Amino acid sequence: MASRFPLISPSSPESKPAPFVCDGCGKSVDGEPAGHGLYVWTRGDEVRYEEPPLCARCANAIGLVALAQWELEEDGE
Ligand SMILES: [Zn+2]
Repeated sequence: MASRFPLISPSSPESKPAPFVCDGCGKSVDGEPAGHGLYVWTRGDEVRYEEPPLCARCANAIGLVALAQWELEEDGE
């Protein structure tokens, strides 16, 4: 019998994604981030992008806020 391990084994506890700290609420969350925020930093000529991980709740909330701001900007002509 060949003893080959698949690259991804869902039943293995070691394949669990590492917990992350949500950038919105600061809580440690198990699993993969539900979304990412986006920060843009400018420092002189340098522009840096950061995408902090967000839990499902914050990803949703921030998505809604972004949508609302978008609509406000569209109306505010
Ligand atoms: Zn959160």
